[in-house]
Amino acid sequence: MKKITMKKITTDFFEKIDIVDVVSEVVQLKRVGSQYRGLCPFHNERTPSFYVSPIGVYHCFGCGESGNVIKFVMKVYGYDYEEAISYLARKFNIPLPEKEDKNYELYQILNYTAEFYFENLKKNARVINYLRSRGLNEKSIIKFKIGYADDKFDIIKNLVDKGFSTEKLFQLGLVYKDNSGNLKLSFVNRIMFPIFSSNGKYVIGFSGRSLDGSDPKYKNSQDSEVFKKRYAIYAFNFAKSSIVKNKFAIVVEGFFDVIALHQLGYENTISFMGTNISDYQAQMLKKYIDKVYLFFDNDSAGKKATIRSLGTLLKAGLIPYILVGDRNRDPDEIVMEGGLEKLIKNPYNINSYFRMLYESETSIEGKMEILRMFRESFSDVNENNFGSILIEEIKPYLNELYKSLKLKLNFKEIASDTINDEVYALWNVYKSSNLRPILDELDEDVFSSKAREIFRAIKSNTFDDENFIKTISKIEFSNKELPESVVMKFIGKWKERKAMNKLKSEKNLNSLDAMIIARGRRIK
Ligand SMILES: [Zn+2]
Repeated sequence: MKKITMKKITTDFFEKIDIVDVVSEVVQLKRVGSQYRGLCPFHNERTPSFYVSPIGVYHCFGCGESGNVIKFVMKVYGYDYEEAISYLARKFNIPLPEKEDKNYELYQILNYTAEFYFENLKKNARVINYLRSRGLNEKSIIKFKIGYADDKFDIIKNLVDKGFSTEKLFQLGLVYKDNSGNLKLSFVNRIMFPIFSSNGKYVIGFSGRSLDGSDPKYKNSQDSEVFKKRYAIYAFNFAKSSIVKNKFAIVVEGFFDVIALHQLGYENTISFMGTNISDYQAQMLKKYIDKVYLFFDNDSAGKKATIRSLGTLLKAGLIPYILVGDRNRDPDEIVMEGGLEKLIKNPYNINSYFRMLYESETSIEGKMEILRMFRESFSDVNENNFGSILIEEIKPYLNELYKSLKLKLNFKEIASDTINDEVYALWNVYKSSNLRPILDELDEDVFSSKAREIFRAIKSNTFDDENFIKTISKIEFSNKELPESVVMKFIGKWKERKAMNKLKSEKNLNSLDAMIIARGRRIK
C-alpha cells in the first residue's frame, strides 16, 4: 500500500501514454488526416464532432468539452487525479514513484480483519442462511466481502501474533476496555460490512449488524485516522463508475438495500453511514453528478431522513428526487419484486413530495409538522441554490412554503400588524396538551378580534380553511418564542374577561328580574 507522489509525475510519463489508445477504450475512433474522430462520449450525437490529437489532447466541437488524457480518464471513469494516474500507469506499465503511507499499518490491520471475518463467515452456515434469506447471493457476499464476527478473540490473537500493536487495535476500535478494565471485542455476533475507501483499495472501517437483537442494530467503527463517519459513503467504490455513467446516484438507508440493488444491476446505489447526509458527502457526490434519487423506507423514520437530506443535497447543488415505495415493503423487497424501474420513471421532486406528504396529513398538527420539517431542512438553503431548481417548477404549496421561508427573515414587520401576542398565546395554549382544556372553559367573546377568528376555527375544526392555515403557518414560521409568563398572563386575562362577562350577564339578569318583579307588582 504505497501512495503516489504526484509532484514526481514528469513529462516522460505523458510521453509513454497514447491518448488514442486510451480514448479508443470508450469511443470508436476513425483516422481523419493527422487526427482521430468519433462520437462524443460527453454528449449525445449522431454525427461525430469529437476529435483526438495524438499530441495528447481531445476536443469536442459539439459540446466544447476538451482536455488532456488525464482529464479524459477522470471524466469518463469518475476517477480523481491520483486514480487517473494509477489507471494510466497500469495500462502502459509505467512504474510510479512511491512513498510510504503513514497509515499503512492501519490499512493492513483492517484489510486482514476483513479477510478474517470473511473466512469466518464461510464456517457459519447459520449466518450464510440468514444472508440468503435476505436475498443476497454468493456473488454479492464475495463482492462486498461480507463477514461474520463471532464472540471469540481469535481475530485479536491473530493480529497480535502478526506483530500489530494493540494500541492500533484500540485506535481502530476493534477492541475496548470495559469499566473494570477487561478487554472486550467491539463487534460480537455481528454481520460485518467492510467499508472501503472510495478507490476501493483499502478497508477503512466496518459496520456490524447485530444478529442477536442487541443494540445498536448497526454498529459502526469509531472514527480513526483512516475512517471518518461523516466522510464515508458505503459502496461508493463499487458505485462510482456507474454513477458517472448513469449521471445519478440512488441513495438508500441500509446495507442490505445497497447490496440488493447492486445485485439487480443498479450499481449506482450507495448509502450514507446513518441516514443523515453530511455536507461533505453531498459535495463529494456533486463532483460527479447533479441528480440524486433518495429511496428510503416508507415509514416515519425514513420520511424524516428524506426531508432532512433534501436541504443538504440542495445546498451542495444537487437536485434531489424521491422514490416512495409501498408502505409495507422495504426498498430491497421492492427491488427484488421488480418495482424499482416504475418508481424511477415517476419520481417525486421536492415540490410534489412536499405536496403529497402535506395532503396525506389529515390533522393540522400533522400538516404543521410537515411544514416544520421542511422549514428545518431548508433553513440553510439560500435563494441561489434553492431557487434555481425550484422557481420554475414551484407549485402553490411549495410556493407558500418558499414565501414562508423568505417571510421568516422579515417576519416581525409583517407579523406585527396582523398577528399579535394574544394570537401567539392562544396558539401556544392550543398546542399544549396540558393547557388546551382551558379553551373548553372559554367563550369566543373573551378574545379580541384576531384571536377570536383563530378560536372559532379551533372550536369548529375548520382547519382546512386556506386563510386559517396561512395565519397558522405565519405563526409557526415566525420562530417567535412567547415566554410562558406571557402566555399565563393572557390566560389570566381571558378568565378575567369571562368572569366579567358573567357578572355583566348576571347584573342584566338581576335587572331583568327586577323589571319582571316590578312589572308583576304593577300587574297585581
Ligand atoms: Zn461533446
